[in-house]
Amino acid sequence: SSIFAAVEMAPRDPILGLNESFNADTRDFKVNLGVGVYFNDEGKIPLLAAVKAAEKARLETQPPRGYQAIEGNPAYNAGVQNLLFGLDSELTAAGRVVTAQALGGTGALRIGGDFLYRLNPNATVYISNPSWENHRAIFEAAGFKVADYPYYDAATRGVDFVAMKANLLTLQPGSVIILHACCHNPTGADLSDAQWAEVVEVCRERGLVPFLDMAYQGFAEGIAEDSVAVNAFAASGLQFLISSSFSKSFSLYGERVGALSVITASKEESSRVLSQLKRVIRTNYSNPPIHGGAVVAAVLASPELRAMWEEELGGMRVRIRSMRSGLVEKLAARGVAQDFSFVTAQRGMFSYTGLTADQVEKLQTEYGIYAVSTGRICLAALNNKNIDYVADAIAKVL
Ligand code: PMP
Repeated sequence: SSIFAAVEMAPRDPILGLNESFNADTRDFKVNLGVGVYFNDEGKIPLLAAVKAAEKARLETQPPRGYQAIEGNPAYNAGVQNLLFGLDSELTAAGRVVTAQALGGTGALRIGGDFLYRLNPNATVYISNPSWENHRAIFEAAGFKVADYPYYDAATRGVDFVAMKANLLTLQPGSVIILHACCHNPTGADLSDAQWAEVVEVCRERGLVPFLDMAYQGFAEGIAEDSVAVNAFAASGLQFLISSSFSKSFSLYGERVGALSVITASKEESSRVLSQLKRVIRTNYSNPPIHGGAVVAAVLASPELRAMWEEELGGMRVRIRSMRSGLVEKLAARGVAQDFSFVTAQRGMFSYTGLTADQVEKLQTEYGIYAVSTGRICLAALNNKNIDYVADAIAKVL
């Protein structure tokens, strides 16, 4: 018999599975609110003008296609550090930040996980309840036991910070704690500045290993404004990790542009950490691809392109906000009694709508509107052509 006869069918990825169902749906009018992708008002994934300009310039130089360094493009890695910590950061000046280009935020989380596992395989990784689906799977694949900490409170549609903090205070020293730096996925509920300061102190007190996931920098308030959590940890003197993703902020999903940054205690420690990261990378994919990182590096290094990019990012942010308020208004206008104003308070691309699995199912079967069964919808998939249809359908299934 086949050597693969015993291979079992793996469960479908819930969100990518939803995409497959959406693509197979033959109805003329269908809306995919499931996937975490920013679409413009025409329903298209935008090619940012700053990216286009950087790509054009790059193409003209006909760059060679040699291997990159294991840790990737140095200009890109420096750009990532500047975005995270600003231009005149003491941390980077002191050589306390090690950055490696990675295959998207996912790749950054995974090389961070592999690195941490070699350091302490008995640690437990804690993720928020709920969290991005892949967090658990990534850290389990790295070998860790994964558990969760309380986060979302359905009653207030915000963070149950009292429960979260109380829980963190009970964790074993050395536990890895995954924190969404801004625009929490899937709930859209973030910590306040004061709460971040408390989380930093809890991490210090308990000896936790903070791992910040920054997948939406610029989608809440702006590049600098969305660095509150990063800044709080940077000022603490603690060691921590950050995964960056530019999939959304540069609209470069398939180019796989991300980075892992590790903040160490000293320059000397940085060189040891980098040597281990390189080992992890070398045995996984040897070195990262060139194009996406080169484009992002070029945009970040040019004052004109950087300004252009920040403006375009601002445009995405504003459009999502207008879809949030539009949906709330349109639901109210359709006589929906339930107060949906929380949707405008949530940040980033997602909203935890409170729609039940049954209601989500109805949206799909009766209206061709696809959402995650948890009730998470992506606001960035709404546009002026489909928002009335979606509001009608939600009002009907409620
Ligand atoms: N972290 C979070 C919280 C995310 O939402 C995502 C993507 N949806 C990622 C990481 C991974 O990003 P990438 O596509 O760059 O791998």
